[in-house]
Amino acid sequence: MTKIAILGAAGRMGQMLIRCTPRIPELKIVAAVETAGHPALGLDAGLTAGTRLQLPITTAPATGADVVIDFTFHTATPANVAAAVAARQALVLGTTGLTDAEQGAVRAAADQIPIVWAANMSLGINVLLDLVRRAAAILGPDYDAEIVEMHHHFKKDAPSGTALALGEALAAGRGVALKDVVCHGREGMTGERPRGQIGMHALRGGDVVGDHTVLFACEGERVEITHRASSREAFAMGALRAARWLHGKKPGLYSMRHVLGLE
Ligand code: NAD
Repeated sequence: MTKIAILGAAGRMGQMLIRCTPRIPELKIVAAVETAGHPALGLDAGLTAGTRLQLPITTAPATGADVVIDFTFHTATPANVAAAVAARQALVLGTTGLTDAEQGAVRAAADQIPIVWAANMSLGINVLLDLVRRAAAILGPDYDAEIVEMHHHFKKDAPSGTALALGEALAAGRGVALKDVVCHGREGMTGERPRGQIGMHALRGGDVVGDHTVLFACEGERVEITHRASSREAFAMGALRAARWLHGKKPGLYSMRHVLGLE
């Protein structure tokens, strides 16, 4: 049995994690944590997920857990990572939008505890990452590459962590660094599109769970590869599988490729 704690328990992902946990019998939720002042504090963690856990949402540190699952906000990540290191807990980190310093804190912690860190925990997106890398390597920079993502209007970071991961996969397929070729949106007299540029565009609206399209266009043809998430279930099940897989692993930084047996 793997004891898990859910950080961000009243959030959209936190509630989906609570709803999906019973589908993996080896997992047991022992803590549901929220930020101070949240209106859900004191409520049963399962209530808004449509189930009863006999476990209140609290601000208490999740010390009894083997694995902590963090879907919160990027500013909370360094403290959450430090708490997991102090308690010698494994960490599944799904929170996106981390600054360079916050990412550094995660990498440093991976010397001491096992961490699965992925901007997108779904199987479909991890297959898409592979396809994009291969397509970019085959098509080369003569095919103009653009990434378009759309998410619900509550999303706080842009572009999405998944779009950035797709950009990294595309750049890796071409053997270049994303930061040297990326162009976030366009406006005004931009001039002609430079060869090798990777364009990135973030749409926001409504209740869209997460759409990502990678386009490769040249004169005469266009390839479009699209993934659409229709519910958060795919992310939650991926994160829960990661928690089950991570328990007992050596310290280190792991991706969903490791969890899914693709490495
Ligand atoms: P949300 O705003 O609905 O939920 C986040 C919750 O975290 C909120 O309830 C908030 O009060 C809580 N929180 C903030 N700081 C906290 C702290 N210090 N301790 C405990 N709880 C805290 O957001 P969401 O849609 O659930 O997304 C959360 C994060 O997960 C975002 O960064 C999002 O981009 C990311 N995400 C990742 C994946 C993936 O597969 N990796 C999938 C979906 C969303």
